[in-house]
Amino acid sequence: MDLLEYQGKQLFARHGLKVSSGRAVTNVDDAVAAAGEVGYPVVVKAQVLIGGRGKAGGVKLASDEAEAREHATDILGMDIRGHIVRTLWIEHASDIASEYYASVLLDRSAKKPLVMFSVEGGVDIEEVAEKTPEKLVRSHVDPLAGLSREQAVQIATAGEADADVIDGVADALVALYEVWIQEDATLAEINPLIVTPERDVRALDSKVSLDGNALYRHPENQELSDAENEDPIERRAKEEGVQYVKLDGDIGILGNGAGLVMSTLDVVAQAGGSPANFLDAGGGSDAEKIEQAVQLILANHAVRAVLFNIFGGITRCDEVATGLIAAFGELGPEEKAIPFVVRLDGTNDAEGRRLLSEANLPNVHPAATMNEAAEKVVALAAHPAEGHAGAGVAG
Ligand code: GDP
Ligand code: MN
Repeated sequence: MDLLEYQGKQLFARHGLKVSSGRAVTNVDDAVAAAGEVGYPVVVKAQVLIGGRGKAGGVKLASDEAEAREHATDILGMDIRGHIVRTLWIEHASDIASEYYASVLLDRSAKKPLVMFSVEGGVDIEEVAEKTPEKLVRSHVDPLAGLSREQAVQIATAGEADADVIDGVADALVALYEVWIQEDATLAEINPLIVTPERDVRALDSKVSLDGNALYRHPENQELSDAENEDPIERRAKEEGVQYVKLDGDIGILGNGAGLVMSTLDVVAQAGGSPANFLDAGGGSDAEKIEQAVQLILANHAVRAVLFNIFGGITRCDEVATGLIAAFGELGPEEKAIPFVVRLDGTNDAEGRRLLSEANLPNVHPAATMNEAAEKVVALAAHPAEGHAGAGVAG
């Protein structure tokens, strides 16, 4: 879950990292009022979940009210590589002596947190890493011990931060590490971390991603998810407590157990199809849950066929069948035109299949194996009208 710059800065401030004071606003008048409150000169900054805003014209300095109004008008509604600006952050402008870079992330291959620091900030850090790797200090942290002040000082020194700000940089690194570990972030990045002419060290920008699966431990962070940028079906799924991820294809998928769903995506792709979603109905899904899942899958209008891949363990196949029959009853005529391929195997599979065949649902196609189910659903997605002809009709 990615945070907007100003949300990341609010997290920074909670952990003692220095940031400039500012206000988030959504219209021009509020922007001008906020500028008056934080004091000129101000920076008017587009709040979108994409970097390079400065280059795109989404970060502008204003020295008076007229300029603040002009920039706010220009930037609100701006399209920055597909991201429409709906929120501005108005911040008291900083004087900048140097622009540094700092970040904390998880190095999966080393299985340790990694702190990175460079005095070459304010620019694309990938470029620094590529062209002048010696200017990017990389230092692993013992996850049990955390980042000590000593190690932070070593990092700042190795990166050749100006001698008089080594302490300030070390403080910033320790605070950034604290943000990363305590907020369950997957990334905490500052670019640029500035040194002011007064030799203050401050975060001028923020890039923070939080681990969505750890959000339950941080009720105060729940509201940070950028509802406007979230997919509406994913949001609904989250509210209903269903594990759903939207994908780009046209074949709706439901399975029970994350592993089975992942392999279902694979067999569908192998059969030449393209999954429209990941949906894990979980263990012990009852009829009501199945009905809810069907509604979620069909809320995506790209879906042209649906594959139910159920391996009955805790989840009993007869319950899934009952759920599917009930869900079908609730569907509108357009939704009923969408073919379902159902593979039931495991606990009470015979009973489940019997219930399904007795219900005689118009557009439900049983399949005995996972591969057969995948081939069938791919064929049906390609030629839904020929649905009743069964598998192998796709050309
Ligand atoms: P990004 O382009 O999306 O990374 O946005 P940043 O927040 O990093 O801003 C881009 C650039 O604008 C920074 O690298 C600075 O050079 C400049 N900038 C941002 N805020 C200020 C400020 O308060 N004062 C000055 N002088 N420049 C700023
Ligand atoms: Mn930046």
